[in-house]
Amino acid sequence: MKASQFLISTLKEAPADAEVVSHQLMMRAGMVKKLGAGIYSWMPMGLRVVRKIEAIVREEMNRAGAVEMLMPVIQPAEVWQETGRWSKMGPELMRVKDRHDRDYIVQPTSEEVVTDVARQELRSYKQLPRNLYHIQTKFRDERRPRFGVMRSREFIMKDAYSFDRDPASAKASYATMAKAYRAIFDRFGLRYRAVAADSGAIGGDLSEEFQVIAATGEDAIIYCPDSDYAANIEKAEALAPQGSRPAATQPMQKVPTPGKSTCADVAQLLGIPLQRTVKSLVLATDQLNEAGEIVKSQLWLLLLRGDHDMNEIKVGKVPGLDAGFRFATNAEIVDHFGTPPGYLGPIGLKKPLNVVADREVAVMADWVCGANEEGFHTTGVNWGRDLPEPFAVADLRNVVEGDLSPDGKGKLAIERGIEVGHVFYLGTKYSKPMNATFLDESGKPQLMEMGCYGIGITRLPAAAIEQNNDDRGIIWPDAIAPFTIAVCPIGMDRSAEVKAAAEKLHDDLVAAGVDVILDDRGERPGAMFADWELIGVPHRIVVSDRGLKEGQLEYQHRRDAAATKVPVAEASAFLR
Ligand code: ATP
Ligand code: MG
Ligand code: MG
Ligand code: MG
Repeated sequence: MKASQFLISTLKEAPADAEVVSHQLMMRAGMVKKLGAGIYSWMPMGLRVVRKIEAIVREEMNRAGAVEMLMPVIQPAEVWQETGRWSKMGPELMRVKDRHDRDYIVQPTSEEVVTDVARQELRSYKQLPRNLYHIQTKFRDERRPRFGVMRSREFIMKDAYSFDRDPASAKASYATMAKAYRAIFDRFGLRYRAVAADSGAIGGDLSEEFQVIAATGEDAIIYCPDSDYAANIEKAEALAPQGSRPAATQPMQKVPTPGKSTCADVAQLLGIPLQRTVKSLVLATDQLNEAGEIVKSQLWLLLLRGDHDMNEIKVGKVPGLDAGFRFATNAEIVDHFGTPPGYLGPIGLKKPLNVVADREVAVMADWVCGANEEGFHTTGVNWGRDLPEPFAVADLRNVVEGDLSPDGKGKLAIERGIEVGHVFYLGTKYSKPMNATFLDESGKPQLMEMGCYGIGITRLPAAAIEQNNDDRGIIWPDAIAPFTIAVCPIGMDRSAEVKAAAEKLHDDLVAAGVDVILDDRGERPGAMFADWELIGVPHRIVVSDRGLKEGQLEYQHRRDAAATKVPVAEASAFLR
């Protein structure tokens, strides 16, 4: 590839809305271009990264026996009504209407459609197991799209779905995928961890997330350096709600101590069974009569289950809280909590709360104070509009660094990660409502056992950059770099020798199947080097008159502090 024929559009400054380094660098390197909130064009440079990621994923999926197909982006509401997700899914599900006023959705994932395919095509036990996948555009109307393509609304996902005759076979299919995922993530050349995740209502241990390790990641990973134990925070807390700390250091207190209370302390105080520790929200409300007078003041401790996506909860549309409430005054909050509204952090209680909770709740001490939409308007008080992001930080309470790991093999450590893949055993969650059956040996219809397996294709470049960058720009691992080698001639327009040597090297490398770009734009060396360092091409070769006189080229890896001389005659072989 010649740079003059390509599209290179680097920027000096990142746009103001780019908060994290990957977003800044992707914008500056011209990888993506923003069209709207959470909606990006992939520019030629960025698309090359996406295509490399897809190729690796496709190769390993095929190797693992999965079969590629392509399902529609726009899907009729009917199949989504069959599983109930049409009504169950909140505003993250994008709904559209056609000219005949019929309902459709823009797919956030494809369980319904693939199950519909399976019930029509997989009719006999002889056709099982099967794994069908596609690499396709998704749309999720995220509450807060951010960090560029890391949490966008439109993105590309690889999603695979396995169909089996019974749970044992389904678990084997799951294991095949979990193994394929390790092969895939090994090939990307990123540091990652496979962590146990919560499999929600299905139960069992068959859900894992693949997390790229990065200090800026949104997820907390609990792991044991001395064993294989690794879990995401929800799973770790669900498994070890009391932590693994010796009882002596974790006394149950009647009144939790500010800043030191654990979920278990609070749960005990409130008399609520501690099931899963996730996120909680404190809402202060006043009940009004028709004349608009305050009838009753209440503080609500809202306790959210782990499978309840916090992103989905708009303050004010909190399930179980109806309109008609106004909010307690600052003074009342201080009275109850000893802390002004806003982000309360882990706090203790001054008085028992008037707690409203259903049976399926969990508690956690990272309370966030808020109020409903209406309340913002009626009171004019800013009740948490300024909540820190993320909305509720699930800081660790029950599981802390240094706790004994559940396998007893060492102490727990904590690091942050970015979820780039997720494998999940589904059981009959979708086959049952959609009546996806096959005929067994005795001709009896049986429900298919399913699994689903996602990879965030377009989140991966961002995750890779969060992990691999320096003050000059991106540093791509070879496997997913837009180009592997940049050939940088100095004074190509003036020197016939430089031009000839650079073009020959480029052509040799192309012939050898190397992904090379020749920078024939005629940029000054400083600007040219800065561009390739920003774009993050891992290998660079400089061709100059001075070097050629000695029969040498200069090679430098993106992580090297200085260049190495390579004889011209050996350069092409050296680089392959
Ligand atoms: P998250 O917890 O980050 O919201 P998720 O658990 O909702 O992700 P899954 O339903 O497991 O996502 O989808 C599979 C993969 O798709 C995720 O592991 C992630 O890599 C990717 N993904 C999910 N949401 C987005 C998004 N908004 N933008 C980019 N990639 C995404
Ligand atoms: Mg999500
Ligand atoms: Mg997730
Ligand atoms: Mg997930």
